[in-house]
Amino acid sequence: MKLTPARPSIHGETLDSLTALLTAHGHPGFRARQILAWLYKKRVRSWDEMTNLSRPLRTWLAATFALDPTIFVLTKQSEDVTAKLLLELEDKALIETVIIRAPQLGVGRENSRKTICISTQVGCAMGCKFCASGLEGLKRNLTAGEIVHQLIQVCRLEDARTPRARAELASFDNIVVMGMGEPLHNYDAVIRALTIVNAGWGLGFGARRITLSTSGLVPRIRQLAEEKLGIRLAISLHGATDEIREQIMPVNRKYPLKELLPAVREFSLKHGRMVTLEFILIEEVNDSLDQARKLRDIARDLHAHVNLIPCNTVEGLPWKRPSLTRQEKFARVLDDGGVSVTLRREKGHAIDAACGQLRLKTEKAREAAAL
Ligand code: SF4
Repeated sequence: MKLTPARPSIHGETLDSLTALLTAHGHPGFRARQILAWLYKKRVRSWDEMTNLSRPLRTWLAATFALDPTIFVLTKQSEDVTAKLLLELEDKALIETVIIRAPQLGVGRENSRKTICISTQVGCAMGCKFCASGLEGLKRNLTAGEIVHQLIQVCRLEDARTPRARAELASFDNIVVMGMGEPLHNYDAVIRALTIVNAGWGLGFGARRITLSTSGLVPRIRQLAEEKLGIRLAISLHGATDEIREQIMPVNRKYPLKELLPAVREFSLKHGRMVTLEFILIEEVNDSLDQARKLRDIARDLHAHVNLIPCNTVEGLPWKRPSLTRQEKFARVLDDGGVSVTLRREKGHAIDAACGQLRLKTEKAREAAAL
């Protein structure tokens, strides 16, 4: 089902598109920069706060655009310093945005690494077997404005946490595009959103600190390699052979490893950056030492970093997390083989942080309340 919000979000406009729109409607084009500064530097919550704009212009803006395309519903904070924001869109659909604060050894939490994980679709069409977001399929693509506005919501949350100094997005180390949805399945909106996130007139966040994660849509990976944005790429690999990957990732039938891996290599060569291979460890599915050795060979060949992620328990799905010993044995095969590897310690298990879980639970609770 394709649903689109009634009014487009102003957070989906670029400097050029907003200038053109203003001019076409008889307003001075230079106002575009002022409007964008109110949105991204001041993060205003109403058109009336844009005090250097004329009343007729504010009235036109209010009639033309949604100022808040996402509405904050709730946040869940877990002991392991992961916070999850549940956001509602104009059509009542729900999405998730996650803040991960990873404390560093010997330093306080305020100095820890901070990452924001954003969503790009409501649901997902890829149907990965371990993922709550894919359980009920794709509902719709997010607009560029809805993607960007997730970051405004994070900034507002941070502003509330640190009331004396407005927390800038720059205080975050990374933005990862690996929440709900397959970003390359919503290509144009995602590229437009990341352009706004990166631009000086937008959120001004460095492209090298933005990572897009894909399940492996090969033609789109090649298209992404041609973009000037210069963002990083992560591949959700999760299987080191077609046989294993196909069991848990239907996308592998369309784009098997013999097509995926050369596209990843091309991206890596073109951008001169290390690609990350994400690998969810699932007991007795892909956690054998044979898989570890094959993953080691792929990573060596691509000069890629490997991120091992012990799987989360998801209600309705049968997968189990391997024991810590087994996780470490798997990681050692890669490490001994000279591969750069990290074994992720759990973040967010207690708050339904596996992709899509909080949204699913809230939707089910809403349905039950409506009965
Ligand atoms: S893991 Fe990513 S691509 Fe796969 S179903 Fe979940 S959201 Fe979609």
